[in-house]
Amino acid sequence: MEKIQMITPLVEMDGDEMTRILWKMIKDELLLPFIDLKTEYYDLGLEYRNETNDQVTIDSAEATKKYGVAVKCATITPNAARMTEYNLKEMWKSPNGTIRAALDGTVFRAPIVVKGIEPCVKNWKKPITLARHAYGDVYKNVEIKVPSAGKAELVFTAEDGTEMRETIHNFAGPGVIQGMHNTDKSITSFARACFNYALDTKQDLWFATKDTISKKYDHDFKDIFQDLYEKEYKEQFEAAGIEYFYTLIDDAVARVMKASGGFIWACKNYDGDVMSDMVSSAFGSLAMMTSVLVSPSGVYEYEAAHGTVQRHYYKYLKGEETSTNSVATIFAWTGALRKRGELDQIPALQEFADKLEKATIATIESGSMTKDLALITSLQNVTVLNSEDFIKAIRKTLEAM
Ligand code: NAP
Ligand code: MG
Repeated sequence: MEKIQMITPLVEMDGDEMTRILWKMIKDELLLPFIDLKTEYYDLGLEYRNETNDQVTIDSAEATKKYGVAVKCATITPNAARMTEYNLKEMWKSPNGTIRAALDGTVFRAPIVVKGIEPCVKNWKKPITLARHAYGDVYKNVEIKVPSAGKAELVFTAEDGTEMRETIHNFAGPGVIQGMHNTDKSITSFARACFNYALDTKQDLWFATKDTISKKYDHDFKDIFQDLYEKEYKEQFEAAGIEYFYTLIDDAVARVMKASGGFIWACKNYDGDVMSDMVSSAFGSLAMMTSVLVSPSGVYEYEAAHGTVQRHYYKYLKGEETSTNSVATIFAWTGALRKRGELDQIPALQEFADKLEKATIATIESGSMTKDLALITSLQNVTVLNSEDFIKAIRKTLEAM
């Protein structure tokens, strides 16, 4: 069989622990036999990040800007325990944070829906796509642990020296303060990414903040979305038969629980962080969630929504059998390959991506799955496979197709 040829390389960001093991299996079993895979490889594994003083992460983000499409394996975000475990020079920043900051994007997360894995929320019939603003707010904050009584102020100094000043609090004793920001530019590109994605996928768009309490900060988000909608998107939305609507975040949460799905829920950075884990767990499993970072300049970075599955990795290192779900990582690859095929006009690559997704879903629906899914499936007589055999089962289905 002739392998599918590629034109432009994908930016390949390798990662850590169990997902690094799956990464290689996926390439060996599901990609390399079928595609003449072209990638520019960046090793974002923690050891090499440490060796390069994290330069490799910055380089991989730059390469993503250059080529337009990246696929990323889950990576360790170092904490105190990892400092000792990996003998790190520094507590390196989260690679995802670095990449998001470089690409200034919006993260879209959608569940992979299969028969036999029903959402906990029984009225959810269609996927809910969560759009998370990936810049600023509490993720770019500065904080002070206030040691004693005193006055905390918020000061803005314009370039011409004019000052704006607000008292945050007159402290009678110790406490905490936090300053955070966002920019109209980033909020506008977040809004634009959401409107475009809604039009692309023909789904309604919901957006929610707490503008009744945060009368300037959150209100800015609300106004930017509304203005852009009125000016550039209203007619297109009406023509596509889809709706944009704004509500308060607590109201949105209540409505989401009662809805049947099939829409995009746009969230500010923190809301998106929290709500995407809720939505994905309720849809079945973090391992069944796709994630793509879309930048305003039209750059795409695909990844799995879950982490490096550390607990399974330690079992793997001890030579014990693991049953780690590779679906989200496979879908990161298919998303990236499909987008590359679209941009370079290689229909065979797009068809391959579609087929590999279908083969993955068909394998699960036929009753062959990893342990995490076996625990929650409504299918009877399922076969629980180990990490490698699950990938091999998908290959079998794929070859039959
Ligand atoms: P995690 O890797 O997502 O795993 C948490 C638990 O969820 C696992 O122990 C496992 O449960 C289950 N799970 C997650 N993915 C699974 C899969 N594919 N198949 C089967 N079960 C799966 O989160 P974590 O253990 O909190 O974090 C580990 C490391 O990942 C951390 O160093 C963190 O910094 C990093 N992380 C990276 C990213 C990213 O790169 N995007 C995101 C989040 C976390 P059981 O143990 O019960 O089987
Ligand atoms: Mg999170």
